[in-house]
Amino acid sequence: MNHQVPDRCPGALRPFVSGDGSMVRVRRPGGRVRVHELVELLEVTRRHSGAELIQLTSRGNLQLRALPDPLPEDLVNDLHDWLPFPDHELVRNLLASPLDDAAQTMIADVDTRLCADPDLAGLPGRFLAVIDTCGDVIGEPFDLAWAADRTDPTVGWLHLGGHGLARRVRAEDAAETLVHVARVFQGFRTQAAERGHAAPWHVREVDPAVFGVDWEARPTPSGTPLPCGPLDGGQVVAGVPLGFLTASLIQVLHGLGGNTEVTVTPWRQLVMPEHPGLGEAGFIIDAADPWASISACVGAPSCRRTDADTIGHAQRLAETGVDEPVHVAGCDRRCGAPRDARVEVLA
Ligand code: SF4
Repeated sequence: MNHQVPDRCPGALRPFVSGDGSMVRVRRPGGRVRVHELVELLEVTRRHSGAELIQLTSRGNLQLRALPDPLPEDLVNDLHDWLPFPDHELVRNLLASPLDDAAQTMIADVDTRLCADPDLAGLPGRFLAVIDTCGDVIGEPFDLAWAADRTDPTVGWLHLGGHGLARRVRAEDAAETLVHVARVFQGFRTQAAERGHAAPWHVREVDPAVFGVDWEARPTPSGTPLPCGPLDGGQVVAGVPLGFLTASLIQVLHGLGGNTEVTVTPWRQLVMPEHPGLGEAGFIIDAADPWASISACVGAPSCRRTDADTIGHAQRLAETGVDEPVHVAGCDRRCGAPRDARVEVLA
């Protein structure tokens, strides 16, 4: 499918106007962010919208809602502090296995190479690249993913999203090769545009022959999201109900110290050092907690496409309990639905 319009994924400087105002998204490759940065971002949203939360997205990004439309100049200036590569900010959708420093180093390498190439600033805002060393983020709907061989992590497979094709690539070459294939994809998009055709948004929409002949049929490995709960080594996977990282949750993080690094996962969790009071504050620290199995889109009134109170419905589900993962959506778009959840569409 070739799209007739550019994607409208929000960025820090390209807001999407929703029912509750402008929405902007700050991307952090690999999801790593320091506590003091979360505090500062909360201050930005407080100052400009009065909102008391940062929203976590299914790509591990940080989203601010209910901002003025158009964005005032001082807000744009505030957001610039978050953009080391302003031209590439829309395309830095880069996931890595949250618990593995080696995967995080590799995705940082991908980021550096991607942001060094002016042409790659033209990739679609929906483009997703993944480095997986633990069998987790490979389950996300990627365009390009390198997944380590589980028996020998010095090698792995670079997968073409949606095609069931992969190429064997050494770990040390993974970032360079992945960015090279991204360049081929963007080159195809540019040529399509020059011929007056609409450009594809995803690798799966492109004839795989475009990427050469070195690919072999290989199923994409399945990925398993991290369950909420304590980890070895004094870390914890703490879920954030509905992805709303509220001021009171951020307040608890203060106890970790401002320079502590936490990792935002694509499953609306933070991986961080264990700390007293996380559960009492509202973090999900037990996989059996009903909130660990419930997600929802923002619904009405924040989204104009529905009258349904998705958040209220999710809260009622949490009170009664669920026996399988459930995502509550306000319409057929099913925004943010996890791949393993039954989706309840309310309107
Ligand atoms: S699923 Fe529909 S109602 Fe919910 S946020 Fe997306 S567009 Fe809005």
